[in-house]
Amino acid sequence: MGDVQRACSQYICKTYARLPVTFVKGKGCRLWDASGKEYLDFLAGIAVCNLGHCHEEITRTLCDQADTLIHVSNLFYTHPQVELARELTRLSFADKVFFSNSGAEANEAAIKLARKHSNDRHGPGRFHIITMRNSFHGRTLATLSATGQEKVHKGFEPLVEGFTFADFDSLSSVEAAITDRTCAVMVEPIQGEGGVHIPSPKYLAGLRDLCTRHDLLLIYDEVQVGMGRTGLLFAHEHEKVTPDIMTLAKALGNGLPIGAMLATDRVAEAFVPGSHATTFGGTPLVTAVALRVLRIISDETFLRGVREKGIYFLERLLQLKEQRPVIRHVRGRGLMIGVELDRPGQPMVEKLLSRGYIANCTHERVLRFVPPLTVTEEEMDRFIAALDICLREETP
Ligand SMILES: *Cc1c(COP(=O)(O)O)cnc(C)c1O
Repeated sequence: MGDVQRACSQYICKTYARLPVTFVKGKGCRLWDASGKEYLDFLAGIAVCNLGHCHEEITRTLCDQADTLIHVSNLFYTHPQVELARELTRLSFADKVFFSNSGAEANEAAIKLARKHSNDRHGPGRFHIITMRNSFHGRTLATLSATGQEKVHKGFEPLVEGFTFADFDSLSSVEAAITDRTCAVMVEPIQGEGGVHIPSPKYLAGLRDLCTRHDLLLIYDEVQVGMGRTGLLFAHEHEKVTPDIMTLAKALGNGLPIGAMLATDRVAEAFVPGSHATTFGGTPLVTAVALRVLRIISDETFLRGVREKGIYFLERLLQLKEQRPVIRHVRGRGLMIGVELDRPGQPMVEKLLSRGYIANCTHERVLRFVPPLTVTEEEMDRFIAALDICLREETP
C-alpha cells in the first residue's frame, strides 16, 4: 500500500471502499496514476466529467473566472449566475432556478419547495412524497429518507417523515400509494444507482397524468441522467413529458461542485426571501464554468453525436452478450449503459482496472459504463476488447 493510501485511511473517514489507485492527471477519456500507468475512463467521476478531464475550454473558463471573481455571496447580484439560470430556463420547461452545491442539496431544495407549495395552498399535513424503490436521491437526512434502499437508511433512523415508496415503472403502485396527505411524486427518469433501469414507454406520461388528476407535483431527479448523458440535454425529453420540478448536479460543472433545482413559476413562487439559502450556491466561479458546459452540451450536433455513439456502444455490447453468457442484460440510452451479469460485478471492475480500464458496479451485478460524452469509437472498441478478455476468463 502506498503512502497516500496509508495516510488516507489514517486521516479520512472510512466512508468509501476505494480501489487501490492514486490518480494524478487526466485528459479527455484518459487518466494517469502515480506510477505513470494510463487508464481509459468509462466512469467519468460517476457521470460527472461529461466533457472529459481537463477540457481545454472549461479549464480556460475556470482560470479566467478565478482571475476575475470567485465568490461574493447571494446578498448581491453576479452576471454568471443569472446567465446560467437564463440559459437553463431557456433550454427547459422551467422558469426559475435555485443553485446548490450538490445533487443531494438540489433534491433537498426540491423536497422543501414541494412541501412549501403544498403548505401554502392546502395548509399543513399534506407533505408526503412518493419515491421509488431502488431509487437514489442523496445522503443527507432528507434525501436518504427519500431514497428507496434500506442499506442507505440503516443506522440513521429515525428517518425524515413523509416518504412513501412505490415500485419503479409501475403506475398502479404509485396510484395505490397516493393519499390525501401526498403532495408530490419524485422519480429518476432512468434509475442510475439502482442499476440503470429504463422505464417502459409512457411511464412518465402516466405519472404526469396521475399527478395532474390528484393535484400533485411531479419531480424529476436528473442529477445523473441530465446534461446530455442520454443523448438529449435532459433524459425526460425522450418522453416529452415535463415535470414541475427538476434537479441537476453531477455533470453540470464537469467536476466543479454545482447543483440546481429548476421549477415552473407556479411552483417556485412558494419560495420567498428566507425560505431557503446556501452560502456557496451559484458562485460566479462555478456558474461561469457550468454556463460553458451547458453551451457545449446543449449543441444539437454534439447531442446527436452522443446518440450515435450510444447506439454504436450498445450494439457492440449486445454482440458481446451473444458470445459471453455471463452477461444477462444490456440496457442503455445514449451513453448511460448498464451491463447486468449473472454474478457480482465488483471482481470484473477490479480486473478491468488492473488492465487500465475504469468502470464501476452498481446494484451488485450491474457494470455501469458512463464514459465522457466526448469518447471516440476507437476508445469504445478498445474498451469492448478489454471487457471481452475479462469476461472470457469467467467460468460460464
Ligand atoms: C449522485 C446522485 C445524487 C446525489 O448527488 P450528490 O452530489 O452526491 O449529493 C442524487 N440523485 C441521483 C439520481 C444521483 O445519481
